[in-house]
Amino acid sequence: MKQIYLDNAATTRMKKEVLDSMKVYLDYEFANPNANYPFAKKSQKAINEARNNMADLIGAKADEIYFTSGGSESDNWAIKTIAENYKDKGCHMITSLIEHHAVLNTMKWLEKIGFEVTYVKPQKNGIVAVEDISKAIRNDTILISIMTANNEIGTIQPIKEIGALARKNKILFHTDAVQAVGHIPIDVKKMKIDLLSASGHKFYGPKGVGFLYVRSGVKISSFIHGGGQEYGLRAGTYNVPGIVGMGEAARLELNNDSTGNTIELRNRMIKRILEEIPETSLNGDNEKRLPNNVNICFGQIDSESILAMLGASGICASAGSACTSGDPEPSHVLLSIGLNKTQARSSIRLTLSDDNTIEDVDYTVDELKKIITMLKK
Ligand SMILES: *Cc1c(COP(=O)(O)O)cnc(C)c1O
Repeated sequence: MKQIYLDNAATTRMKKEVLDSMKVYLDYEFANPNANYPFAKKSQKAINEARNNMADLIGAKADEIYFTSGGSESDNWAIKTIAENYKDKGCHMITSLIEHHAVLNTMKWLEKIGFEVTYVKPQKNGIVAVEDISKAIRNDTILISIMTANNEIGTIQPIKEIGALARKNKILFHTDAVQAVGHIPIDVKKMKIDLLSASGHKFYGPKGVGFLYVRSGVKISSFIHGGGQEYGLRAGTYNVPGIVGMGEAARLELNNDSTGNTIELRNRMIKRILEEIPETSLNGDNEKRLPNNVNICFGQIDSESILAMLGASGICASAGSACTSGDPEPSHVLLSIGLNKTQARSSIRLTLSDDNTIEDVDYTVDELKKIITMLKK
């Protein structure tokens, strides 16, 4: 049976070059890079190269990159370590209602231990207004954490403006850039980003590896206590194959010019759905949107039924974030941009990769048309 994978916001398939780059480190180059014998030299060198590639991808310096186990760990580390190291200055943080649960649930945990958090509501288009963040700033605000791009509706946030606002007010700025790194240009210096989270498996790298960028000068402390890896701040024997694979994925994305093609496919899919299927609407902004993200509300029809029938046609899509699917509560992101519960439960997300073709897009829209007609009966 045909299989069309349109759930690339949940995870991506590793590119062939990525898999190839990892193989020797899963096999005979297995030395612990911290060892002193010559056998460890190749893995040491590979880790350094990967670190340089990550730094190049976001305009950072290599010694500002800390390897982690993925996006969730990077978000936890960033937010908790700022709470720990800057609490003398204040106990207030600002974030948005559309963040990933790795940020939202970290913030909720901080509230339990005495911090105060303002959750800024996005506008109807899914973009957080800089002015609303500005209004939330207090004398005791120590951190603003706003995602670069949303994982459900793909909206790209005004990161440069938020960075400038934070810097002007001497507040640190963290961004969960897990959906953005490797997909849209990021420059931590120009955007005045102090901390940034990323994850390998969202840009054609392996799962279980990510990184946290921390601008030099920002005070952070150890998140995983143990050995001396990552300047003594993140203990644990290096995941050499994972780090090498993510480094290769970063190198490929630095030289990747397929964005224009992905945008064309995305726009074709959106246009055809909105024109050919009645009562549909696009969730999130038209333009300030990730190149690969389509999120459609079908009005009344339950998304679980649509997804099941798409699955039977060989199409993999999802309703919002994977972490909440199977959960009876509708998406917090869709509710926060003003959809009611029925509309939120009637929305699906289709996210493209570099591998998808115009045939994939057309087949998916044709199947969707049939499915919606059937479900309406
Ligand atoms: C996937 C995702 C995460 C979590 O990353 P993991 O590497 O799976 O832990 C965090 N934030 C966003 C926006 C994501 O899309």
